[in-house]
Amino acid sequence: MFDDRPPDATVRYRHTNAGYRVAILPATCKVGVHSLYAVGYLARVSEAEGVVRISCHACNENVDVDHFWVLTMQGSPPESAELDDGPYRDVVPVMVDPRGRGRPPATTT
Ligand SMILES: [Zn+2]
Repeated sequence: MFDDRPPDATVRYRHTNAGYRVAILPATCKVGVHSLYAVGYLARVSEAEGVVRISCHACNENVDVDHFWVLTMQGSPPESAELDDGPYRDVVPVMVDPRGRGRPPATTT
């Protein structure tokens, strides 16, 4: 199910008071209909590609739907991860499947 689509965004990070590096992942699935807190998610890191793919357990039942985030990782691996939509509000998902949000496939980069 993996492909070569461009990443949707770059992973957001924050640093805790203790100096830990925490990756912030979107709290809503890419299709925009499920809370990952509620339905669960799977984050798969590809070291070779330098990306993390985040799929939604609810959307996973239909593997044909373009539903997983592809985020570019930066720097050293984080100590942990958390979910927060805030840092991703300005991200426009790269929807390969135009059914996703009724958006046409992206024509610009
Ligand atoms: Zn979903």
